[in-house]
Amino acid sequence: MITFSFFLLAFLILIILVFKYQQLRKTTRELLAFRYAIENSDNVVVLTDKDRKIEYVNDAFEAHTGYTKHEVLGKNPGILKSDLLSDDFYKNMNETLDRGERWQGELINRRKDGTLLYEKTSIVPIVVDGELIQYLAIKLDITDYIEQQQKLQQSAAVYETIGDGIMITDSEKKILSINPSFIQMFGYDEEELIGQEPTIITSTKQDRIFYRRMWYSLMTKDRWKGKMYNKAKSGKRLPTWLTITVVRDKVGAIANFIAIYANLEEIIEMEEKADYLAYHDSLTQLPNRAHFERQIVDIFDLAKMSKEKVAILFVDLDRFKVINDTLGHHVGDGMLVELAERIKKVLGKNDLLARIGGDEFVVILNPVKEKKDAGVMAAKILSVIREPINVQDYHLNTTASIGIAFYPEDGEDRSTIVKHADSAMYHAKDKGKDNYQFYTKQLSLDVQARLNLEQELLHAMEREELFLYYQPQYYLKSGKISGAEALLRWENLNLGRVSPDKFISIAEETGIIVDIGYFVFEEACKEYMHWKEQGLDIDSISVNISSVQFREDDLFEKLKEIIIKVGIPPYSIEIEITESFIMEYSTTNLTILEDLRNIGCKISIDDFGTGYSSMSYMKSLALDTIKIDKSFVADLPHNTHDVEVSKAIIALSKSLGYHVIAEGIETPEQEKFLLEYHCDIGQGYYFAKPMDSSAFVAFVKEKNQ
Ligand code: C2E
Ligand code: MG
Ligand code: MG
Repeated sequence: MITFSFFLLAFLILIILVFKYQQLRKTTRELLAFRYAIENSDNVVVLTDKDRKIEYVNDAFEAHTGYTKHEVLGKNPGILKSDLLSDDFYKNMNETLDRGERWQGELINRRKDGTLLYEKTSIVPIVVDGELIQYLAIKLDITDYIEQQQKLQQSAAVYETIGDGIMITDSEKKILSINPSFIQMFGYDEEELIGQEPTIITSTKQDRIFYRRMWYSLMTKDRWKGKMYNKAKSGKRLPTWLTITVVRDKVGAIANFIAIYANLEEIIEMEEKADYLAYHDSLTQLPNRAHFERQIVDIFDLAKMSKEKVAILFVDLDRFKVINDTLGHHVGDGMLVELAERIKKVLGKNDLLARIGGDEFVVILNPVKEKKDAGVMAAKILSVIREPINVQDYHLNTTASIGIAFYPEDGEDRSTIVKHADSAMYHAKDKGKDNYQFYTKQLSLDVQARLNLEQELLHAMEREELFLYYQPQYYLKSGKISGAEALLRWENLNLGRVSPDKFISIAEETGIIVDIGYFVFEEACKEYMHWKEQGLDIDSISVNISSVQFREDDLFEKLKEIIIKVGIPPYSIEIEITESFIMEYSTTNLTILEDLRNIGCKISIDDFGTGYSSMSYMKSLALDTIKIDKSFVADLPHNTHDVEVSKAIIALSKSLGYHVIAEGIETPEQEKFLLEYHCDIGQGYYFAKPMDSSAFVAFVKEKNQ
């Protein structure tokens, strides 16, 4: 019994031992598994003693912090601290743990290399038998997540604030999202667009090929960019620079389209402004030469298709240069602006007016039915230009000359037509200005001849082809010779005798009249002194001075020099200037005349009656003689109008104390009439034609005997 009992006890003990052993093994196994799990966990595990000294860290700790176990064992976890969390934060954490409670939160630490480490952390105090023995910290590295969040936040801020419009669609092109700038650009509300397709803002400006190209690029390169016109809600067409990007998912299927719209409105406006400046005249706002040249090619092309006629009118102001030179540019500018307005008013809405040079305008009548319609328009333009213009207290008169050429009959290309309209305009100038002329084939020949003449004239001085003739002037009462007018003559080897009426204007335009003028003046003064030496009793010598010569600042000085050199008494010199000259120059610029008068020269107004000057204006000038133009004398005494004008000129001149000379007396009737009305001096073929110096000496000797 005892033995049995003993055995039983022993057996029981054995069973208990086996059970215990198995339990222990299980616990050990469990502990091992637990340890294995901790060691291999992706979470960082840190175990410290109750004084917060590190007793254990797992592999993940090494991987995430960059520290080895060796380096941290026995140290405080504070070695990981960044300075990004406040002291309060740690104080709060320690208080929680000291109370034996679990702490949870996000730590911002630093890795060994200094980079930031964001950790979602849970720290548990381990209490055994009521005694705190350790702390266990389990931490999840959330650095990537945090950084991604930050990036997303930045992107979102960009999305919200960027000036470009952004639209995001799904793969079906249904709008998912748009940013505030998009709303502002297109004027739609968000609700109106979400779920819609981008076609809602498409304009018809682009054609199908355009879109096909765009989709091809998107499908092959995942990207397209280019200029696109869109339509805002208001219907306004909106130019944009559009960039579309395809966003694909992991398997390469299209997830989204992102479209970025940069508004080009301002840039295009600026481009247009630059374009406007390049093609318009800043003074008159009219199209300029470049615009005209660009436009005319299109106009001709269209006219060719529709078999219509186009007229080109070249409008050149007659006295503009002088106004500009003497009254100043601002006066000239004011005049141009006014004239541009006037011309514009008489044109039709299809007609084009451009300013192609200082005082040159061009009008394109497109289309024009008949030639005479262009003539009617030219006459209208001339009449509005002729009306007096008030600019800054000046009352100005001007006229224009117009040349007209037609497409296609006068030329099939731009440069030919332009050239022909130009030569027609010069023809109008030659015809006495203030008129219009059509281009004819003959004109081209004339232009050639004129160019030829110009070339020859350039060398006339050096080749000594120029010389003077003298036409006697005589007292109508006594028949005694009072003086002579020096008249220039040109004898050219190829051209023969060329009339001054032909070459003087060319000499003026080319400017060589300046040199020629000094030559004439000196030559005439010298001849006069020769006559005196030969005992001729002649009061004066008249010399014509061109208005072009008056543009020379030192004209007076140079003339004075010649006078002194030749030794001629200045009171023997009569300077002839034309009436149109007086009109072209303002009183302020007439000081040269006063200077000349102050040293004793006499001033004579030539061709009086042909200009527009008023007698009251004449009164204000310092003059000595008025020369009635030969066109008035020609029809005396039959033409009643001319009779009245001549009588008036003589009477008024006398009342102002001026001498009167009548030029172009060809008949005894004319002479008789002029004498009757107290004209002082006569000049004309009836008395004597212009002649060379020796003939003149002989003539005077015979007459004055
Ligand atoms: P002008 O100064 O009015 O000169 C008078 C013109 O009338 C001269 O023509 C003269 O020959 C012409 N004439 C004189 N009597 C008669 C007449 O009874 N009947 C007709 N039909 N004509 C007559 P010319 O010499 O051919 O000169 C023409 C113009 O050329 C001049 O007109 C003048 O404006 C200009 N001219 C001539 N010589 C010079 C010069 O040395 N310098 C400048 N600047 N111009 C000159
Ligand atoms: Mg004269
Ligand atoms: Mg004259």
